[in-house]
Amino acid sequence: MPGYEKWSDLERKELMDVIDSGILMRYGFDGARKGHWKSKELEAAVCETFGCHYAQLTSSGTAALTTALSALGVGYGDEVIMPSFTFVASFEAVISVGAIPVLAEIDDTLTLDPASVRKNITSRTRAIMPVHMCGSMADLDALKEICREHNLWLLEDACQSIGGTYKGKKLGTIGDAGTFSFDFVKTMTCGEGGVVMTNNQEVYVKSDGYTDHGHDHLGVDRGADLHPFIGYNFRISELHSAVGLAQIRRLPEFLETQKKNHTLLKSLLSEIPGISFRRVPDPAGDSCSFISWFLPTAEQTQRAVDALREAGILAGNFYWYNNNWHYIRKWDHLKNALTLNSLSPELRTRIEAEANKDFPISDAIMSRCVSTSISLLWTEEQIREKGARMREVIEKAI
Ligand SMILES: *Cc1c(COP(=O)(O)O)cnc(C)c1O
Repeated sequence: MPGYEKWSDLERKELMDVIDSGILMRYGFDGARKGHWKSKELEAAVCETFGCHYAQLTSSGTAALTTALSALGVGYGDEVIMPSFTFVASFEAVISVGAIPVLAEIDDTLTLDPASVRKNITSRTRAIMPVHMCGSMADLDALKEICREHNLWLLEDACQSIGGTYKGKKLGTIGDAGTFSFDFVKTMTCGEGGVVMTNNQEVYVKSDGYTDHGHDHLGVDRGADLHPFIGYNFRISELHSAVGLAQIRRLPEFLETQKKNHTLLKSLLSEIPGISFRRVPDPAGDSCSFISWFLPTAEQTQRAVDALREAGILAGNFYWYNNNWHYIRKWDHLKNALTLNSLSPELRTRIEAEANKDFPISDAIMSRCVSTSISLLWTEEQIREKGARMREVIEKAI
């Protein structure tokens, strides 16, 4: 998955443009910046590369989710349906706008189970937020249909699936809004950064203002801008955008390598008796940043993980079920609504209730699931060796 593995003179060159001019901010300083507008250029490149009308860069993927929720008008009293398996940013963003994160089960796609989404809809639901985990996509047709029936926003968290597609369209551009993260370990990186993508002009204009203290950006004098609403500072810097600009041009190469390495390793792992793989709603659209595989039982999976650790080859294999960041089971801070500031009593009660629900379907899936991340640096020989060793260790353990 990570673009950082391919750090090169191309990133250095883009960075040097910014360092030479000394204008590290994305807005203003028109004369001094010597024609360098890295953030604007990267936004144009995002629209071009992923096929959306508008792109608003942000300081992180989490900021992008928060911005998108705000631009969609999601806030007090609203419920947002999100999956039990995701990154903590999902509920952080929802809580930050004052809305209630309603957790739903995942299915064997490792993303939102449409049947569970239906069960969780109430009169207060405003948005459905699928998370395209580990490189592959949610069942977007089914989720879009639910949104249409109930008049809900579809906000795609595509932070982990840059370059993936669903029925020919890029993930992140299919819902009312979508987000990428460009943090250090994502498919392409800015160091830190993110983007809101949308085809809805109003959502874009609001995102643009929201990420910069509500500035309307209509004039040439920043000091004279009006503020139609209260915003924040979620701006990206020119330094970060410069890195992203080099990386987005290299994305086709990253994705091709990722796909090649994924295909070979998956074919080797598929020889392990009893192994199966996540369901991919549109197999041609897998971004291939991970191979997610299942063993028949939770016990076998735990034994396999222990054996991989003992053999010194666990690195790059993620057993999310026991991981503090990605699965509901270990989110004690959410279960106890541990915030630094006071929440409204209603929001606190709802957060605790949601996070302490049982997720038997997700548990049954996640306790048998391991995701193997795909490196861009592996040689064919290394992949064959890795596949053989994993097979040997796992077969013996189960
Ligand atoms: C990385 C990630 C985010 C957050 O991105 P940051 O840029 O690290 O804030 C959000 N959602 C998912 C699924 C992610 O993997």
